[in-house]
Amino acid sequence: MARPATEELRRRNRSALLDRLHRRGPQTRAELTEALGLNRSTIGALASDLSESGHIQETTGRPTGAAGRPSTLVECVPEAATVAAVEVRWKRLRLAVVGLGGTVLRRDEVPIAPGADGAAVAKAAAALLADAEVSDAIAAVPGLVDGGTVAQSSELGWADRDFGADLESATGRVWRVVDVATAAAVGEWSRGDAHGVANLLYLHGGHGLTAGWVVDGRPRRGSSIMLGHIVVNPGGQRCRCGLSGCVEAEMGTFDFSETIDETTIAARLGDTAAREMVRRSGEFLGLALGAVVTATNPDEILFGGWLRELYLSSAAAVRSSLAEATLPQLRARLRLRTAALGAQGPLTGAAEIGFEALMERMRLMWLARQDSNLE
Ligand SMILES: [Zn+2]
Repeated sequence: MARPATEELRRRNRSALLDRLHRRGPQTRAELTEALGLNRSTIGALASDLSESGHIQETTGRPTGAAGRPSTLVECVPEAATVAAVEVRWKRLRLAVVGLGGTVLRRDEVPIAPGADGAAVAKAAAALLADAEVSDAIAAVPGLVDGGTVAQSSELGWADRDFGADLESATGRVWRVVDVATAAAVGEWSRGDAHGVANLLYLHGGHGLTAGWVVDGRPRRGSSIMLGHIVVNPGGQRCRCGLSGCVEAEMGTFDFSETIDETTIAARLGDTAAREMVRRSGEFLGLALGAVVTATNPDEILFGGWLRELYLSSAAAVRSSLAEATLPQLRARLRLRTAALGAQGPLTGAAEIGFEALMERMRLMWLARQDSNLE
């Protein structure tokens, strides 16, 4: 009965090889041999399996050594598996169709009416996707998401909206729904420069403020943190959520999302009111972060969306109020910086979450096929 174990191992190794190529891009057989800890002939056999199934191809790639002889590269065939990712924002809907290996095969964007409900946005997504054949589909939405339901979104004005059901009835297929901040956090970890950060927080500035939390490359279950509704000034400004003194209300995030550039430029040019606004916002953000850092103990915090510009203009204020609100032990190794992928982060990460599920499905399918071969 040695054969099933051998087949099982081969199936596992095949998944590992494909996963590696998807995440790290084209590599030589020698690099794969070293990275996966397998011998050359095993890598050769796996590569020919995957090349036969149409998932990978071998091409003449980069020159190696002084002689400049080009080496053969193993790479994913993007069209072999594709994920559609859409990002829903106030006033616009964006689409990326991403192929195996992370190649973006198509990008598109359409305006949507501010205040549009889930059904209308789903219809727009169906039209945008048109007749694209994809292996998985995922939507990133700003706010608090639970399964396919958008529990709360300040930006879209949705509460308890079953957007997964809206998308399914508009497109006739199943969709995953995630929050924008979690998607962007996964994007920064997998395709940005935060790879290897064990405990990563990504803060997203849209019409509201949310945070995504990724531990060892995976989103924490129910990980979206409602950063914007941390109360930093009890009895202060009335917030859209019904509470008073939320960091969103104190900072005026709804306005900031439209005016961040002019405000930070004016502050840099010495406009007193703008400088004061940026400094106070940085302080409130630092206070809210204090609560989040105390609860999650991250290694790194990335500022994305318009928080990127705010952080660049108010880093000292953010840091000093964070220091007043956290224990020194929690910030001894904490790094604060801006996100690398910028506006592409949410769609990039949403597609990666889709691929994670897709890879798992492929692995199970291969297993089932092996089982039936053995019968
Ligand atoms: Zn609030």
